[in-house]
Amino acid sequence: MRKALIAANWKMYKTPAEAKAFMDAFLPLVAAHTRDEIALFPSPVLLAAVIEAAKESNVAVGAQNIHFAEEGAYTGETSVLQLKALGATHTLIGHSERRQYFAETDEIVNQKLHTALKHGIVPIVCVGEVLAEREAGETGGVLKRQVTRAFGGVTAEAAKPIVIAYEPVWAIGTGRTATPEIAAEAHRIIRAEVARLLGAEVAASMRILYGGSVKPDNATALISQEEIDGALVGGASLKPDSFAAIVKY
Ligand code: PEP
Repeated sequence: MRKALIAANWKMYKTPAEAKAFMDAFLPLVAAHTRDEIALFPSPVLLAAVIEAAKESNVAVGAQNIHFAEEGAYTGETSVLQLKALGATHTLIGHSERRQYFAETDEIVNQKLHTALKHGIVPIVCVGEVLAEREAGETGGVLKRQVTRAFGGVTAEAAKPIVIAYEPVWAIGTGRTATPEIAAEAHRIIRAEVARLLGAEVAASMRILYGGSVKPDNATALISQEEIDGALVGGASLKPDSFAAIVKY
C-alpha cells in the first residue's frame, strides 16, 4: 500500500505574516488527519517560520528547489545543507517552471536528485509534457526520457525515498486538469519506466503524484485512481480551507 502524499507548492506567494496566518488556520483543520502525508513547499524566505509553526504537527515542510552543490559561490541559490539545518525534510526537483524559466535540464535534475538523496531529503521529481508534445503524440517518449535521465546513476536501494510528480505542463495554473484516465495512463507509463530502470519492487512502492489544476472538486476523482498516489497542488493550496479540503478528498 502506498500512502498518499498531498503537497502544496506555494510558488512565489505569501509574506511571512500571510504564511503564519495560513498555518494558524490550516493546522487545526488537518490535525486529526492520518490517512495521508501532508507537505508544504513555501519559498525559501518563509521556510524558517513555516517549519517552526509546523513543529510537533503532522505536516512536513520542504523547499521548492535546491542547488546541486552542497555549498559554494552560487549567488541567489539555496543549499541542501542550509535546508537541512533549518529542518526541511523534502524538496521539489525539476518543477516545470524551473525547467521553463530557469533553463533546468534533465541533467541538472539528475545532479539535484543525487544531492537530495545523499543528504536524506525526500525528493519530489517533477516530470510532464508540454501541450505541443501531447498533441504530437509524444507524451510517452517525453516521460520516459525525463525519468530515465533524472534517475541516471541512482541505485534501486537509493531510489526508495523518491516521489515522482506527473505534472502535464498544459494543466499547471491553467484550470485545465487532466482527466483521471489521462493522468492514470501517464502514471502507468512512468511506473513502467521506473520498473525497467530499477526493478518491479521499487516501481511498485514508488509514489507518483498528479499535479495540474487540482481543486477540491476534482481531487477525489483524481486521487482515488489506483495509479495516483496523491497530489501536488499550486493555486488551490494557497488558502487553508481549500487545501484542507483537498487533503481530505
Ligand atoms: C504546481 O505548481 O505544481 C501546480 C500543479 O500548480 P496548479 O495546481 O496551480 O496547477
